[in-house]
Order: sequence, then structure tokens, then C-alpha cells
Amino acid sequence: MLTDHEYLRYGASLCLDTFGEEQQMTLKCARVTVIGLGGLGCAASQYLAAAGAGTLVLVDDDTVQLSNLQRQVLYTSEQIGAEKAHNAAKALSQLNNTIAIQAKTLRVNKDNAQELVAGSDVVLDCTDNLTSRWIINKACYQAGIPLVTGAAEGLHGQLMSLKPAEQHGCYACLYPPDTEERPACERTGVWGPLVGIIGTSQAFQAIRVLTGQHSDWGVLHTFDGARMTWSQFYLPASAHCSHCQEGVCKSQ
Ligand SMILES: [Zn+2]
Repeated sequence: MLTDHEYLRYGASLCLDTFGEEQQMTLKCARVTVIGLGGLGCAASQYLAAAGAGTLVLVDDDTVQLSNLQRQVLYTSEQIGAEKAHNAAKALSQLNNTIAIQAKTLRVNKDNAQELVAGSDVVLDCTDNLTSRWIINKACYQAGIPLVTGAAEGLHGQLMSLKPAEQHGCYACLYPPDTEERPACERTGVWGPLVGIIGTSQAFQAIRVLTGQHSDWGVLHTFDGARMTWSQFYLPASAHCSHCQEGVCKSQ
């Protein structure tokens, strides 16, 4: 049951034809883990907090740098040198103090990934490197947890929702483990608003996943900022993917 305060706070969502008290309650009871609190994570977590995602788990081992402020909109100049996870939690709790927020200052790795994603209703991969993405992908598939992954570089972004129970490919099908790591976006360049577009799209997809309105599993959405266009491609499971060959993807 929603409170009177929640009816007022989420009124613009609740008056949608496809969204009502049942969906808002589902969000309220949801546990959403956001891994990476750079530009993507800042944008995604803002909209998840505002939408009323009941428990947000924020994971990042980094501290705020001056060069982050061009696109990482939860932080301020006064927070340079401070932990991102805790400062993001502070900003989000000011946005919505009716939700629970957990801040974890650590880097996802193969030893802690399973524990980090355990109990999540959906995980958002907002990291900036392939190694973390492969680890998160594998942990989510092993745990059977939906994963919304996003990336942005230059003027281009991509977005994909993966559900272990479906028969589409996984992140390692798209980028096999022998794929060369790309330099960080601060070296290759990225437009600040682009990470907002992709990050808020991750939040949009996560809310659709949580409220049962998601149907484009395994579809890679790519955004071309130079042309302001989106394209879609279905990602089939690769016969050469170690995850799929191990039966991780298809055994759920
Ligand atoms: Zn795969």
C-alpha cells in the first residue's frame, strides 16, 4: 500500500495507463544494484531514486576528480578527492529520502561479484572497462539476475538488457574475452550529455524490467549522437562464448 506522500510524489507515474499502484509497489520493494558511479551511474541512479526504487546499492571504488565534473552530475567541486559511492548516496538521499541507499566503496572483481549482485532484482552495469563488464555479466548469469548494461564513448553509446532465462547472447558473446580493452573515455573523449542519455536509458530499461514491461531482451540498442539516431540489433548466443559453452547462459 502506498502512503499519501507516495501518491503525491509519484503521481505523474501513477496516472499513466501502463503504470499504477501495483507497479509503484514493485519498484518500492525492488533492490537495484548500480555498479560504477561515473557518468552513466550518476544519471541512472538519479532517475531510479526519483522513481522510487526502494533499495539502491551503489558500488564504486573511485574518488571524485576535477575532470569527472564535466559529466558526473551527482558530485560538486567541493567533493574532489572524496569517495564517489558515499557522496552519490548523499545526493540521492537528498533527492528522495523515502528510499534505502547502500554505498559500497569497492571495485567489482571475480571474488566479490557474486556477493555484490546477490539478492538484486536487476543490476545496472555502469562501469567503464571490459574486465568489470565480463565479471558482472558472468555473475548475473550465474545468479539468474537481469542485467542492463550501458556504455558511452565520443558521440556513440550502447545499451542492452540481458536476461539469463532467455536464449539470447550475453555480454561475452558481444565482446569475447580476447577483445582489446579500450582506453578510458577521459583519453578518448566523451560528450557529457551522452552519458546522461545512455544512463537515463538504463534507468528507463531497469524500471521496465522491474515492472514487467520489458520485452526487448538481448537487443543491442546503439545511439549515434552525430546523427541523433538509435539502431537495434538482436544479439544471438555465440557458439564460441565461454559462458554459453559452459552452459551458464542457458542453464537458468
Ligand atoms: Zn554468451
